[in-house]
Amino acid sequence: MFVDEVDIKVAAGDGGRGALSFRREKFIPRGGPDGGNGAPGGSVYLVATLHHNTLVNYRFHPEFEARRGGHGEGSNRSGAKGDDLELEVPVGTVAYEKTAEGSFARIADLTEPGQRVLVARGGRGGLGNAQFATSTNRAPRKTQPGEPGEVKQLRLKLKLLADVGLVGFPNAGKSTLISRISAARPKIAEYPFTTLTPNLGVVSLSGDRSFVVADVPGLIEGAHEGAGLGHQFLSHLERTKVLVHVIDVSSASGRDPVEDFEVIQRELDRYDEKGGPAESGTVTLSGPAHEESVTVPLSADSPRFSGKPRLAAANKMDALDEPERLSRLEAHLRERGIPLFKISAVTGEGLAPLLEAMWREVDAAAPRELARP
Ligand code: GDP
Ligand code: MG
Repeated sequence: MFVDEVDIKVAAGDGGRGALSFRREKFIPRGGPDGGNGAPGGSVYLVATLHHNTLVNYRFHPEFEARRGGHGEGSNRSGAKGDDLELEVPVGTVAYEKTAEGSFARIADLTEPGQRVLVARGGRGGLGNAQFATSTNRAPRKTQPGEPGEVKQLRLKLKLLADVGLVGFPNAGKSTLISRISAARPKIAEYPFTTLTPNLGVVSLSGDRSFVVADVPGLIEGAHEGAGLGHQFLSHLERTKVLVHVIDVSSASGRDPVEDFEVIQRELDRYDEKGGPAESGTVTLSGPAHEESVTVPLSADSPRFSGKPRLAAANKMDALDEPERLSRLEAHLRERGIPLFKISAVTGEGLAPLLEAMWREVDAAAPRELARP
């Protein structure tokens, strides 16, 4: 199962201590106790959001501390409460807490946008000496320290759903491409459903932007009928936000790039007509090899392939031996309004503009998701 996983440390704020103080006023030589209470420290919460779809940012920033509570002061002034800290995690994140024995116990399953879970409680503030005055002790010197905030080691896990699906003939270079673009922190694991193994990679771009790309093995003619490739792959791609055709433009394939593109398009169209297995509602991604499933909400009008934006990548530009193959593909796609990016997954040529285009489509698709009930 393709899982994005990070370990983080969260520390809630300590409570402020209670104050030791006595009233001092003109003409009142021995005022009563007026030490205020310390305030509670800030707590740490996880909040589920649809704004992010990976945990990748936590890799670079794994420690968090909420503010401590203010100390009490004289004149019965309480300290200021420490601000809570809210850590946004993608919907679908499961949180585990490291136990004293070193194992991880599941503490939260964040399945709904906006869901908020307390993971480290702020310490209580201590009482000031004013609270300890009694009829027999009118000048108590007793105060309480604040309680320490909870400190926890957490493990966050997210079952990744792909934002971008790579489609294309076997050997078009999909696997090479995904290993190249997610090389910074590749998170590539086996897909347990079949013997063919698609990969998922987290792509990180500047400015905290990240998305998940799926490399689906050899989508070939007849896939819509379950030949060659199971429906599971196609239904998995149904939930991606953009499809990228990877097309080999070198002559190595022995096929025609325009024809390759059309064959894949036809597969996707036929799948649409036939109606794939995954409809709407809730999809549970679980595998026999995995301990649990995570439920991922789908919008009721989950777009199938027909409504999905498409990009195309002319791959193996470094080995372009017959430029005419490329120019015919360019003309063909221009007519269909599909942007074509000339790349080499091996040399890295042309990848930056392709990644930016992927991001634009992923980003543009996000508000549709947020609008769902
Ligand atoms: P997939 O079946 O679509 O995943 O294709 P692979 O990534 O496994 O690549 C198939 C073959 O094409 C491998 O031998 C790759 O080294 C080669 N290949 C992939 N991308 C390029 C490229 O940009 N240039 C060249 N020259 N070869 C490439
Ligand atoms: Mg492959």
